[in-house]
Amino acid sequence: MDLKSSHVSPVLTDPVPVNKSRLRMHSSLLAYSQQDSPVTPGKYSRSGSRKSTGSVDDVRSNGLLDAMKASSPPRKKLLKGSSAQVASIDFDIEDYYTWMLEYPSALDSFEKIIDLAQNKQIAMFLDYDGTLSPIVDDPDCAFMSESMRTTVRSVASYFPTAIISGRSRDKVFDFVKLTELYYAGSHGMDIIGPVSETLSKNHPNCIKSTDHEGKELTLFQPAREFLPMVDEVFRTLVEITKDIQGAKVENHKFCVSVHYRNVEENSWTTIGQRVHDVLQNYPRLRSTYGRKVLEVRPVVDWNKGKAVEFLLESLGLNDSDNVLPIYIGDDKTDEDAFKVLRDSNRGYGILVSSVRKESNAFYSLRDPSENYKTISMLRAGHEISPTLSELEETRKKEWKEVNAKDYNMNSILFYTPTT
Ligand SMILES: [Mg+2]
Repeated sequence: MDLKSSHVSPVLTDPVPVNKSRLRMHSSLLAYSQQDSPVTPGKYSRSGSRKSTGSVDDVRSNGLLDAMKASSPPRKKLLKGSSAQVASIDFDIEDYYTWMLEYPSALDSFEKIIDLAQNKQIAMFLDYDGTLSPIVDDPDCAFMSESMRTTVRSVASYFPTAIISGRSRDKVFDFVKLTELYYAGSHGMDIIGPVSETLSKNHPNCIKSTDHEGKELTLFQPAREFLPMVDEVFRTLVEITKDIQGAKVENHKFCVSVHYRNVEENSWTTIGQRVHDVLQNYPRLRSTYGRKVLEVRPVVDWNKGKAVEFLLESLGLNDSDNVLPIYIGDDKTDEDAFKVLRDSNRGYGILVSSVRKESNAFYSLRDPSENYKTISMLRAGHEISPTLSELEETRKKEWKEVNAKDYNMNSILFYTPTT
């Protein structure tokens, strides 16, 4: 398999970058400081909070803001009816296509992927938000389309398919509503998969459970001991962000999301600082950055990459010569899964992104609509090979007709070359 190996693992938990030009800013300039912190220690917190340390906190606060901005690049919007020329003002097409030399379109590389999948069992892993559904302002409204649901159901009838999401397992199931799939919620910390006696023996956190249809399955929750602590932090975060307009805190069972998508940018420092202050009392929890969201999760050696390995093992798909895992996702937490596939030289990560990003993925897709096409073609390509060329021809024709348009339901710029 022709696997690239020159990528550097992206940062998920690295220290917050420090903007040296802001080192002299005094803490009194911050919108919020620990002196007026509303944080009170909880039952599961460490007793006594750390004291503010002046300039160190300044650096930390500005670093928080920098990290929040860096992980939340502005979306590229295209005015209705505008031409590709106008659109290029808001979107560096040349830069994007340069980036795609390193991360080719999975659609353009489709025949190559299918060739490599010959005589192999494809195992499909899909993130949810931004991959199967558009990113929306209200996370409770991130619905996937019926056509996407139909396609995923069809894919699952050919390949073992799992959804791996940062949301709670129950919540992502409520969105997807397909009992044919396996689900890993809370960034892989809550997995429901097939019964495996070997795994049950090797992993102390495996227990027998049943799915929504009463079918016996294995439930794996490596961070189960953190449940009461995460719940306590969730309630604290709700309380301390309730005065910040637009802030939304979600409980994903084993992790918590603090969304600032709808918060004015001049309050981002406030929200970041308050989350940071709460976590000072919980050294066994950490925060990571997503797209306009801060994720709080237990410090455990578990992530989406480990979840992929666990599911491959539990599905009996660890034979790298005969199995081709494909993981499609759109954000930093998916990078752990991309890295596992890259490092083990046994599959492909596909990054969904409309902007340049460093990644451990091999291929890229611009948005969920391209993902829809890709998994449709994977299913069709695996089922009846003549259909593949028909689909490819149709796609090329569409791309020529659609020069530049607002293709996605999420108003992400979709641009296609005419050549
Ligand atoms: Mg996502």
